[in-house]
Amino acid sequence: MQTRADTMARIDAALGRLDDGRYGSCVECEGEIAERRLRALPFAVRCQACEQRREAAEGQVHRRAAQHGSLWLFAEMIGVSSPSVEVSTRRFGAGY
Ligand SMILES: [Zn+2]
Repeated sequence: MQTRADTMARIDAALGRLDDGRYGSCVECEGEIAERRLRALPFAVRCQACEQRREAAEGQVHRRAAQHGSLWLFAEMIGVSSPSVEVSTRRFGAGY
């Protein structure tokens, strides 16, 4: 959901990048964001390839979370790779 404040923040960020001379370059790979993409999405901060990678990664997290429940999502957030072992025993005690 896009709120007005969110949009303003994005505009601010884009203008800040404009000042720095970084506008139009990708925050991930520092490659150039295609002009066509910037015309469509003036506040894009990633090139198309990085955006797609990010969306794919986020989609994976959501799919796994749906399969394994919110414990998995939490584990992903704190960077634990095998939540069933690590999180349940170390963070919540055995028998969680
Ligand atoms: Zn990129």
